[in-house]
This record gives sequence, C-alpha cells and structure tokens, in this order.
Amino acid sequence: MPLTRRKLLAATPAGVLASAAFVAAPLVSQADPPQAAEKAIAPRTRRLRIAHLTDIHVQPERAAAKGLAACFDHVQSLPARLGYDAANMIITGGDTIMDAFEADMARTTLQWELWRTVKADRCSMEIHSVIGNHDIWGWGKQAAKTTGNDPLDGKQWACDEFGREKSFTSFDRAGWHIVLLDSIFPLAKTYIGKIDDAQWDWLETDLAAVAPSTHVALFSHIPILSAVPLTLLAPPAIGASMPTFAVQGGSVHVDVDRFQKLFARRRNIKVCVSGHLHVVEQIDYQGVRYLCNGAVSAGWWKGKNRDTDFGYALVDLFDDGSVERQYVPYGWTAVT
Ligand SMILES: [Zn+2]
Repeated sequence: MPLTRRKLLAATPAGVLASAAFVAAPLVSQADPPQAAEKAIAPRTRRLRIAHLTDIHVQPERAAAKGLAACFDHVQSLPARLGYDAANMIITGGDTIMDAFEADMARTTLQWELWRTVKADRCSMEIHSVIGNHDIWGWGKQAAKTTGNDPLDGKQWACDEFGREKSFTSFDRAGWHIVLLDSIFPLAKTYIGKIDDAQWDWLETDLAAVAPSTHVALFSHIPILSAVPLTLLAPPAIGASMPTFAVQGGSVHVDVDRFQKLFARRRNIKVCVSGHLHVVEQIDYQGVRYLCNGAVSAGWWKGKNRDTDFGYALVDLFDDGSVERQYVPYGWTAVT
C-alpha cells in the first residue's frame, strides 16, 4: 500500500530530510502499484558529507589568507550557523595556492607558508588534497626560473605539502571508496587534463580491489566531463562548413572516452567531483553524476566568477550510491 506523505515524513531520518533533492522528489501517486511505491520511497541514509573546497588560490594579496580562514570557520561552524549536519572531512580540489606554475622559489615558498599557517591555525578537521595545475612548481620555466632539476620541481613540492608520496591516492570511508586523481600533465609549455598510463595502471589495480557493492567517488581538479567549456570561448563561426566547438584540452579531460569505458565496466563508480572552472555545474550521464564546484577564491578573490560566489560545496554520499550536492557561499566579499 502506498505510504501517505505524513507516514513518509514520520519514517524518514532527519539527515535525509536535510537533502533538498530528496524533499523535492515526486511523491508516489495512488495509482502506482505497491512494489513500485516501495522502491520509490525506500529511505536512504547519508554515509558521508564531504566539504569540497576547491580553487582556493591562497596568496598574500586580496586578503586571501583571511578569506581562507573565514571559509574554514564557516565549514566548521555549519551545525550552529545553519542548522546543517557537520561535514565529516574536507577535500581540497586543487589550485590550493595562487600559482606556482610560473612563480619563482621565493614566491612559491610564501604561498605554501600561507596555506600551512592558515590550515594549522583554523582547520581542525580531517583534510585531503587533490593537486591542481597552479600547485605545480615551475613548469613555466622561464617565469619560474626553474631548471627541471630541483628536488622540489613539478609536483614534488605539492606532494610534500600534502604529506604524501604520490600526486594521486585513494582511501575507504563509511562504505565509499574515495579516489583523488592527478589530472595535470604537461604539453609544450602548458598542461592538459588527463591521467597518464602509470596512473591508469594504478587506478585499474586500485578499483579491482574494491568490492562491487562499495560505491566509488572520483575527485579530480580538471572535470572529466563538462559542458561549461562550450560557453567559455567565442561561438563557432557559421559558414559553409559545419560549425565546430573548439574545447581546449586544458579545460576538460582529453581522455574522457577512456573514463566512459571504465565507468561502463565498473558500475559502482557513482560520481566525479571537480573544480578548475570556478562554476557550479551538474551533469548526469549514463549513471554517473559529474559535479563541478565553484571556487573558494571565486574570480581569484576579485569578486564572483560569472554568477558563482565565493563558496564551497557539501557533497553528500548515500548508502544507495546516490549523491547530492549543495553549493554554500561562506559570506566573503572582495577586498580591494
Ligand atoms: Zn583555479
């Protein structure tokens, strides 16, 4: 027999009601057969709430360190402030510091010191970090005055700051397997979004050890799939030949096709979370949810990026493999 809305609400844990998407889901109509009704209203339980702080770009300018402190404070005061459930951990989504790619050693040292200091002073939560293009030291050799032979060169410095050996990693928590990918690979004097063969080998081995009943969340700096780049460039010219959108390989993963094939083989991969584009986007495609989140630094601390405010995301992972996201502005305004 279909449940009434009152019975449904009475039977629903408070944490589930906190999900706007759940509340907005259509109620079962009286005409639905009993089995379908049972399935449609099966309660789900949130297993993990991750605060995703991406594209922080901390720097000495624009009061960015104060902004980051305000963001940490906001995440940690969520229950008191908004009546929200607290996040279980923070994952930073890459571009932790303003830029090391084209910065010399002194400037890069200054930025990482800011990150370390604010984190130590204001963050008491478990924290994991994804590497971003701006976290990589000196691939822009001329501007950074790097030779390619320094022990801290490239990704090593960021790995040291994140306290781990490799630029990618994974861990298990609350029935979910969390993978932090390294999206950034060099091309000419810049970078493209992909993972290299060594990381593919690691990822395949890593996922093979995960039980099919365990849900998987992938975090990368560059989106694996996004429609946003279609809106970032001038529209394609309409002439005699077919107009073509020119999406740059630095905006999305160029190996998206390989990921699609992986997802088709491993149906327990449920969500891909990214940053890099500093906007909020959601795509649901072939059973996988793709969430790009806005930036802690918004438009590099100068103000909103397009319409996206200074903020972070709460990513909720449920026991049935579903995922919900809400974007939370933390009240920062640009300092001139
Ligand atoms: Zn960024």
